[in-house]
Amino acid sequence: MREDMTVTANRQEYLEAVLATLPECIAIVDRNFKLIDMNQAGLAKIGVERFEDLPEGAPLTLISRPYQRIYRDAFNKLFSGKGGEISEPFRVELNAINSAVHLMECRLAPLLDEHGAVNAVVITSRDVSEWQSALNAAERSNAILESTLATVPDAMVVIDERGLIKSFNTAAEAMFGYQETEMLDKNVSLLMPSPHRDAHDGYLERYLRTGEKHIIGIGRFVEGQKKDGTIFPIRLEVGEAKTADRCLFTGFIVDLTEQKTTEAELQALQEDLMHASRLSAVGSLASALAHEVNQPLTAIANYLSAARDLLDQGADTNKALLYEALQESVSESLRAGTIVRRLREFVAKGEINRQILSIAQMVEDAMTLGLVGAYDKGVECTTNIDPDTNHVFADRVQIQQVMVNLMRNAIEAMADSPVKKLGISVQSAPDNRVEIAISDTGSGIDPEMADQLFQPFATTKGGGMGLGLSICRTIIEAHEGKIFAEPNPKGGTIFRIFLLKAAEEQLNVE
Ligand code: ADP
Repeated sequence: MREDMTVTANRQEYLEAVLATLPECIAIVDRNFKLIDMNQAGLAKIGVERFEDLPEGAPLTLISRPYQRIYRDAFNKLFSGKGGEISEPFRVELNAINSAVHLMECRLAPLLDEHGAVNAVVITSRDVSEWQSALNAAERSNAILESTLATVPDAMVVIDERGLIKSFNTAAEAMFGYQETEMLDKNVSLLMPSPHRDAHDGYLERYLRTGEKHIIGIGRFVEGQKKDGTIFPIRLEVGEAKTADRCLFTGFIVDLTEQKTTEAELQALQEDLMHASRLSAVGSLASALAHEVNQPLTAIANYLSAARDLLDQGADTNKALLYEALQESVSESLRAGTIVRRLREFVAKGEINRQILSIAQMVEDAMTLGLVGAYDKGVECTTNIDPDTNHVFADRVQIQQVMVNLMRNAIEAMADSPVKKLGISVQSAPDNRVEIAISDTGSGIDPEMADQLFQPFATTKGGGMGLGLSICRTIIEAHEGKIFAEPNPKGGTIFRIFLLKAAEEQLNVE
């Protein structure tokens, strides 16, 4: 192609065309800093149309003062023949006619005369203002980001698509015990215990392949592992940052150790409180309980002394009566045994232990303690317990505590009532629930008490602590259930509890 062109003939024209259209500014300056020529881009940058319109002494006079020295030095170096052929790039600030300021990156190349001496200089320059301000902005936002990362209270770890750590902030250093320098480009799985440690690369690979989000945008409670091997509970939130050519993941981590310890302490305190409340209930039942146990014991003594008398009269003739007396003694002793067993269960301080339990059976068991002494007070109790009512997944002692509490409150509320009817019913309810209702014909809820019935320390009783119903609600809500009170149409109050029936799979496990 080159051969085809009349290159030599047109060379001058061709070069001029190139110079005129080059986006780079080109100027030729002699050793006295006098401008000999300048291309169109250069003139435009300065803000004139024609070479003749350039101000006196341009371009030197248009360069901001602090930069003039750099410009002169680069020139002098070139003319003195030191420092090689083409100068190192340097920057100057150029003040255009329209008062715009451009940051120009320049290079100088010598123009030699026929003896090889430098007699002029070609300045090639381009405007780097925008690039520089973008760089400044990037540096600024980087600095903001760095200081944010250093000061955010949450630990933050940034990884790339291979799981390699790209940033590990100060809070992460404090949390995991690693320095950022030792973690950069290490696999993030170092911060997790097995099995996640071994599986993490696979999680990332699956996400990048399928786009299925398992953790991104969803907070998760997982475990972290410190440098010293300690495994601790964390909450992890993962975000995704996509750029044109790569994908980064940001992980915000909150250490839940303290929260979990506090939760465990609170749980233990609550269990202590429930236990104390059961002990106190039993304390207030003590004399009624003694009476309740005494009854079968007295009956046993009576049956046995009758049996002895029958024996005296001749065992053979009184065999049938003797048998009956002994049979009654057995059942009375079983009755006494049941009360003592329930009592022991009730006051035992054990771990919360949820099991699949028949709610009907549980309510019947609770009646042994809940109705202690009721008969003597003239309370008439009717039950309506649907034996087919399904099972619930619950803690036996806790649910019994609720039942006993409600039954005792009902009996107390009827102390001065002419009619004392206590109703206990267990039925299936809609939405896969079981309803337990305990109704009384007592005083009804004191209107001043209505709003705070389930609040701790709310009581109308002289010696009451006002903790019973608050504990009942805590227990029922911990079982994902509901408890509330309503007026009994027959006078008095009805407390209703709704508990979820045990799920199929829970029943199968049993
Ligand atoms: P306490 O029995 O120590 O007062 P509770 O939390 O068990 O504590 O009960 C709080 C209050 O709710 C009682 O003081 C009483 O005023 C009211 N209450 C509870 N059950 C009944 C009921 N069946 N009938 C009327 N009022 C009741």
